[in-house]
Amino acid sequence: MKFIADRMLGKLSKQLRMLGYDTLYYRGEDAHQMIQLARQEGRVILTRNTKLIPKRPNDRIIRVMEDNPLLQLRELIQKGCISLNEENPFSRCLLCNVLIDEIPREEAEGKVPDFIFYMQKTFYKCPQCGRIYWQGTHQWNMQKRVAELRLAESREHRA
Ligand SMILES: [Zn+2]
Repeated sequence: MKFIADRMLGKLSKQLRMLGYDTLYYRGEDAHQMIQLARQEGRVILTRNTKLIPKRPNDRIIRVMEDNPLLQLRELIQKGCISLNEENPFSRCLLCNVLIDEIPREEAEGKVPDFIFYMQKTFYKCPQCGRIYWQGTHQWNMQKRVAELRLAESREHRA
């Protein structure tokens, strides 16, 4: 599942990338162009715009109702668009949306804080912007969020 998110959904885009989903963040205001891009690349449109109507049967448009990015993520899970059990979480650059590559550990030396270098075994690099990632970069943050979501779900099941 690949997505294109409208300009209201920048934070949601980053969260989807954290989970490994290919997500294009469309900053423009031209809804027609966004639909064209979605068609060309086979993406599902995520939008806050309630007036956006599919023009062809193949256009997939999901209206995001929640305001809060974490609740938006949960909304997508509940709608069955994404799952928390994806195979490749933490595999994508949060800024560029491209897959990051594992690099030899020495390559990260001096480019990340020393204590990170000594603590971490594996580093990754974005081939586009050169940003270096390691397990802790977004994993900790995201695991916390995923745990919060699971907790909220279990509470709802009990209620
Ligand atoms: Zn990048």
